[in-house]
Amino acid sequence: MTERTLSGIGVTPLSGVGTVVWYRPDADLPEPPAAEDVDAEAELARFEDARAAAEDELEAERERTAERVGEEEAAVFDAHVQFLNDPQITDGVTDAIEGGLPAEHAVQETFSEFVEQFENMGGRMGERADDLRDVRDRLVRVLSDGERVDLSSLPEGSVVVAERLTPSDTAQLDPERVAGFVTVTGGRTSHAAIFARSLALPAIVGVGEELQSVEDGAEVVVDGESGDFVVDPSDERKEAAAAAADVDIRHESVETADGVEIEIAANIGTLADLGPAVDRGADGVGLFRTEFLFLDRESPPDEDEQYEAYVEALESFDGGRVVVRTLDIGGDKPVPYLDLPDEENPFLGERGIRRSLGPDADLFETQVRALLRAAASADGANLSVMLPLVSTVEELRAGRERFESIAADLDAEGVENELPEFGIMVETPAAAFMADQFAPHVDFFSIGTNDLAQYVMAAERGNERVSDLGDYRQPAVLRAIDATVSATEGEDCWVGMCGEMAGDPDLTELLVGLGLDELSMSAVTVPQVKAAVAETDTADARELAERVLQADTKAEVAEILTLDQ
Ligand code: PEP
Ligand code: MG
Repeated sequence: MTERTLSGIGVTPLSGVGTVVWYRPDADLPEPPAAEDVDAEAELARFEDARAAAEDELEAERERTAERVGEEEAAVFDAHVQFLNDPQITDGVTDAIEGGLPAEHAVQETFSEFVEQFENMGGRMGERADDLRDVRDRLVRVLSDGERVDLSSLPEGSVVVAERLTPSDTAQLDPERVAGFVTVTGGRTSHAAIFARSLALPAIVGVGEELQSVEDGAEVVVDGESGDFVVDPSDERKEAAAAAADVDIRHESVETADGVEIEIAANIGTLADLGPAVDRGADGVGLFRTEFLFLDRESPPDEDEQYEAYVEALESFDGGRVVVRTLDIGGDKPVPYLDLPDEENPFLGERGIRRSLGPDADLFETQVRALLRAAASADGANLSVMLPLVSTVEELRAGRERFESIAADLDAEGVENELPEFGIMVETPAAAFMADQFAPHVDFFSIGTNDLAQYVMAAERGNERVSDLGDYRQPAVLRAIDATVSATEGEDCWVGMCGEMAGDPDLTELLVGLGLDELSMSAVTVPQVKAAVAETDTADARELAERVLQADTKAEVAEILTLDQ
């Protein structure tokens, strides 16, 4: 049989080989009875019961997801509960029932109208349509007593193929048994894609209607890097994919071919990310985005809860460094209970260290107390802290002084504490320009290329229309990185990188050549980046970096890198 390749958007840089299992949640309903045969009062009561039952299910799934995947991912079920109780939608269903439809048909009809409205809005709102569908199908299933296809106990080696996978569907997939999933619809930032990355599942979304032609039981290869979905693959293809899937995980630290050690760490948001980080061989944590401990809850975590979280991260790595970033609230990370100001340009507003030294001073103090105590714990010697979005030397000084004065308070209270290694993120052009002035005051820099690219290029991160401009391969961004690293020459200041760029294995040689000492990334790409470091020769890498820094366009940068790969 000859192989056939369908293309979509690869969302996890992993490959899988397996057998297709079509997942078609049964949402088809029989024809409704005549309106005069429908008892509206009884149907309204059934709808209310179904809503209550669906809410109970959602609570249970929320808890399960928080445990297995993480708080951030679990938050989607809160959105589902909101849809379930949205007055506009429930009024629509009530009207439809009063107009003579049975409850399940009224739900199907009303929700489908809202789904269509969201889809027409496109972009992120369009992706919310998946959530609405999920709630609709759940209610219809409850109302019609339908059995749900059990995604949590699929045969080993299954590749789940579906029109779309809702968050509840994806959360049920067992990464031990499922070899990947592929969907007709979906984009890079859809919930399914985010879950795939968290669960380290090979996945392709947005293949289009052609996917319907792939039959149940077909043998397939899912290449989550290129987005190629290969049906009836050749033996060579399967072997290549299995070899790629069977990526060599190194738990020991990695050196370049000529013996220079480069630290390869993982970015984490919640404690649920620690397991994958350890499993994929990260040396430690290069960025703990602590604001995730504050999101999706009603009030901030207290000092003890934070202390426990930081100590758990430290204990997970056998002597590996854990870099905790202090709160980076604001920008695209709102926290409902903090009453953030309504700003026209939140990315240019009160964000990160600006809030910690201003309106969130109390929250910052609690966090600093927890960090100083964690630094004195058994594994605390490996704790480092860094401040986000620093743009002036005064902010750095003020931040550092807060650590020192709070340490003195703890001493006075007789509470054991230690000042940890101290650094800043370099993610504003100001910090890159002033790096030589910052360097003497810190132990390290960590370059945040997500924000650095956005601010250097004046191209909002996440805005598809300017994504080409906001690309970290733009020469101006590369020069900002080079300026930052060069400013530390002769200083006792190591330089890491924790933006998305650090996890791009195609750029590892360049980053080594630019002089980075540490790279921190989502756990998924740790093995690939470690492998790329081991193949790099630092003299060649420096020469490559020099050539790339001369490039005048992103296209030229890409061309030089491809030539040298
Ligand atoms: C960055 O800006 O590159 C970074 C790592 O921080 P965040 O993505 O959390 O803003
Ligand atoms: Mg940032």
